[in-house]
Amino acid sequence: MPDTIGIISRPAAAGEPPPIRGATKANCAKCGCQVWVSPYMQQKAKDFEKEGQAVTFQCIHCANPKPDDEFRPLAPEQLEELRQAGATEEDILGILKIVAARDLKTIRDGYDLRTGHHGS
Ligand SMILES: [Zn+2]
Repeated sequence: MPDTIGIISRPAAAGEPPPIRGATKANCAKCGCQVWVSPYMQQKAKDFEKEGQAVTFQCIHCANPKPDDEFRPLAPEQLEELRQAGATEEDILGILKIVAARDLKTIRDGYDLRTGHHGS
């Protein structure tokens, strides 16, 4: 059985412009809501599928990783996408900490991965 790669994304609000240039939408595999997929993740999803791995997209509200699930660190390309979307180096550090801590709750509570701030 190939591993399933779960890609966790932020839900897209209706009419919201892409948070990262070139981002497209996919549907959450659980609740069906639309989530943003950055150009880097679009390409990675294709690569994983070519390697025979199943890929699912999940929104941050549905994602429920098991304790032994492996979290992939953000790739340099993803960090560059965040910088181009306006994230500062301080924001990036905060984002890396959250990912390293597997702290989805903080993101669910309104942490904006693009700006590194709580809000909206
Ligand atoms: Zn969902």
